[in-house]
Amino acid sequence: MNSLDTMIATELAQLEAKANLRQLPQLTHRGKWVEVGGHTMLNLSSNDYLGLAADTELHQTYLEGLSVDRLLLSSSSSRLLTGNFAIYEELEEELAARFGREAALVFNCGYHANTGILPAICTPRTLVLADKLIHASLIDGMRLSSATAMRFRHNDLKHLERLLERYIDSYELVIIVTESVFSMDGDLANLQQLVALKRRYPDKVMLYVDEAHAFGVFGPTGLGLAEAIGCIADIDLLVGTFGKAGASAGAYLICSRAMRSWLVNKMRPFIFTTALPPLSIDWTLFILRLLPSMQVRRKHLASMGSTLRNQLTESGLPCPSESQIVPLLIGASADAMRQAEALQRHGFYLLPVRPPTVPEGTSRIRISLTAAQTDEEMEQLKKVISEMI
Ligand SMILES: *Cc1c(COP(=O)(O)O)cnc(C)c1O
Repeated sequence: MNSLDTMIATELAQLEAKANLRQLPQLTHRGKWVEVGGHTMLNLSSNDYLGLAADTELHQTYLEGLSVDRLLLSSSSSRLLTGNFAIYEELEEELAARFGREAALVFNCGYHANTGILPAICTPRTLVLADKLIHASLIDGMRLSSATAMRFRHNDLKHLERLLERYIDSYELVIIVTESVFSMDGDLANLQQLVALKRRYPDKVMLYVDEAHAFGVFGPTGLGLAEAIGCIADIDLLVGTFGKAGASAGAYLICSRAMRSWLVNKMRPFIFTTALPPLSIDWTLFILRLLPSMQVRRKHLASMGSTLRNQLTESGLPCPSESQIVPLLIGASADAMRQAEALQRHGFYLLPVRPPTVPEGTSRIRISLTAAQTDEEMEQLKKVISEMI
């Protein structure tokens, strides 16, 4: 064994001993259910919040309207070479119009968006102030950039304000980075207050908001929390992804026209990658056009979220969530694994979320509600949880 083999063997054994070893689950999808080891369970671990990815009728409708000229399964190139099929710009124009902003740029995924935007726009004279609980892709984007990065305590705008006051004069530009719906606690950023804070420093502070878990779910036409709150125009860099409630793949940035051109020139994960298949973009556009009509699903999802959150709060359990993502906070990874297995035996496919995805000692079961879940299934889930807690 060479030194790398030895290191890998030791560390894997340590991960296993701490119940933090990860393995790729073997599962078969059947609409909103998954089958694992011969056992069929309701899937409450995906991000298919509106139930669109599990909706076979919807896929059938899409396929019936599809013609061979749109059935392009590869772009065969970066968009800067020959991969810029017209459907890309159609999607971007529609996004910009729907958000009421100058421009939009589409990326292959949210991970690309977040690892690419900050490195392309930051200089050593930029300060990034980021919420403590932002997604790993944003953390990697900060690390790859030449900015100075600091974190403020989760959703603690007083802390952010102090950092701003203290450092604003030492930098040319400050970029505040947050998610709108946080992926692990399901709580919300206070976008209104963030906008108010930004406005105190005109031309000096920018807002970068990641709506990965809010796109499709929040807002009267499903554009996200910024739409719900009415502050789309105030968010300089508004990112969202299509792979969650959007039931597709890819990500978008809503921004100024100049910013779009800059990123087309400078953003490495945009430039140096083969564009998504045009078919995938076509399907995203199909979904985007449907989102305004999904209000019934959004209401059902919101109402299930509030029912579940109330249940936890009434049982005296900590429940930070304000959305469709409801964590059962457990603590030790081994306990979270055991509880998740118990829930699975009752027919709910729930998984433990462990470090390094969440901080040490905060292992949890992350319930991702889906609008495909019926009221009866929700009642059953509540019953199983009440027996567990
Ligand atoms: C899922 C997620 C991403 C990554 O998006 P992908 O399209 O899956 O790469 C980025 N940000 C947040 C907050 C996410 O939850």
